[in-house]
Amino acid sequence: MNPMYRRLRITALFACFVPMSVGGCECGSKTPAGGAAATPSATPAKPEGPTQPLIKKAEIADWCPEHGVPESICTRCNTELTDGFKTKGDWCDKHGLPDSQCFDCHPELKAKFEAMAPKSRG
Ligand SMILES: [Zn+2]
Ligand SMILES: [Zn+2]
Repeated sequence: MNPMYRRLRITALFACFVPMSVGGCECGSKTPAGGAAATPSATPAKPEGPTQPLIKKAEIADWCPEHGVPESICTRCNTELTDGFKTKGDWCDKHGLPDSQCFDCHPELKAKFEAMAPKSRG
């Protein structure tokens, strides 16, 4: 047989064998980063919405989106509230609104009420 051929065969065999051997060795000695450390643990409690310290939950539903004030103090929706505000002296004759809700006379109130408004998320 041709000795050249025989030598080539051995080299080919060796070349094939070595990477396999090295690869297997490296795999065994090297531990993949992370490992099995990432165990999904049960999250205790999800934060239920944004915390709004200025308003209580009951008041969140109590909102008149039309007039931008809490429904319970919206004199435009509940005209019977008007007398109460007038009695307190909290009334703007010019605009027919409680002074504490008159954004025309008190533009700063608008931001205040907007901050109170329930935010629809999404
Ligand atoms: Zn209203
Ligand atoms: Zn006014």
